[in-house]
Amino acid sequence: MPNSFPDNNVIFIIDDDEIIRISCERILQKSGYKVETFGNGHEGIERLKQVHPPLLVVDIKMPELNGFEVIKIVRKIDPDVVIVVITGYATIETAVDAMKMGAYDFLPKPFTPGELRMIIDRGFERWRLTKEAKRLRKEKEEVERKFVTLVSHQLKGPLGAVKQYLDVLLYTSHDRLPGETIEWISRSQSRIAEMLSLIQDWLMMSKLDHGVLCDRSASSDIVKIVEGVIEEYRQLPSAANIRMSAETAPGLSPVRGDAVSLNMLVGNLISNAVKYNRPGGKVTVRVSADGKWTVLTVSDTGLGIPSAFRAHLFEEFYRAKTPETQNIPGTGLGLVICKRIVDELGGSIEVDSKEGEYSTFTVKLPVAELSQEAEE
Ligand code: ADP
Repeated sequence: MPNSFPDNNVIFIIDDDEIIRISCERILQKSGYKVETFGNGHEGIERLKQVHPPLLVVDIKMPELNGFEVIKIVRKIDPDVVIVVITGYATIETAVDAMKMGAYDFLPKPFTPGELRMIIDRGFERWRLTKEAKRLRKEKEEVERKFVTLVSHQLKGPLGAVKQYLDVLLYTSHDRLPGETIEWISRSQSRIAEMLSLIQDWLMMSKLDHGVLCDRSASSDIVKIVEGVIEEYRQLPSAANIRMSAETAPGLSPVRGDAVSLNMLVGNLISNAVKYNRPGGKVTVRVSADGKWTVLTVSDTGLGIPSAFRAHLFEEFYRAKTPETQNIPGTGLGLVICKRIVDELGGSIEVDSKEGEYSTFTVKLPVAELSQEAEE
């Protein structure tokens, strides 16, 4: 064997010819491999679903399921398994076809024990290298992520300070500053706010990657949270010409989850409803009870989301770009965070929209006292 595979040195051999099966098994067992043999494709495929061997040797010409059909099915089950095909003399072309379908190498009949060993060793080396490359790629991504998180942490403090200096400058010197200067300061403030929101989303994502965000044992008053967020948005210049209202059912029970994560959930949805709205548009937040659930809907009369984009909205960094939305700043992380919060709390989130007319996000959260039953 070229390298040691202490955990996985299994080879599957699928061939209807018993002599080939027995001889391959003996040769490869002598070299230290664990071999499992199968007289037809169906049996081999069934076993492959459970075992995931690094290497599969399959005869092309078999009754029932031929080698091509086996490769096609196996590739769907396990894209990493290295496949070697056994071919007769006259079928080199078919071997080439098999390789086009995803086989790694071929072994023309008749073959010597040395030829078999060489191809199998090479196949295992290939499997090992593919695994190693995957591991390194993952490691690299992890390092990059950690680096961005570190930089984000470092930037958050100074940027927050700059934002505060500008706030103070505007507050204390507004009357003395020329209009043009105020305009430039305001622009700087919105740019800084964009950067801070990017940093905040990124830090939240990395937090979500490495642990639990919500406190499931806590319970919160969702109506109070909704009213608080709406009040906050009413103060923002960006929401100045959007009408915001809340329609909440009386006597609602507390929902499962802590106020910080629920604030983030409601905040992200309302922020989007404002951001992707039109001047003079409306944002309506409704909270009602539905048995063991509290249903929260955030509706806007804004740009809407084209149907083709809707399935991807909860994917990291996804932004539904249309001519109307492409200049609206954002990170494509807000809805990912919402989905993670809702999932952690055992709820659900859905979107309904009509392009150019409205978007409605519906969140179902388990009622706190009944949370156990709701889960069931
Ligand atoms: P961001 O707003 O930072 O881009 P989100 O994850 O919050 O990221 O949203 C992802 C995308 O979904 C947005 O880029 C936008 O295209 C679309 N979207 C979200 N909410 C709305 C909404 N209320 N109306 C229209 N489009 C929306």
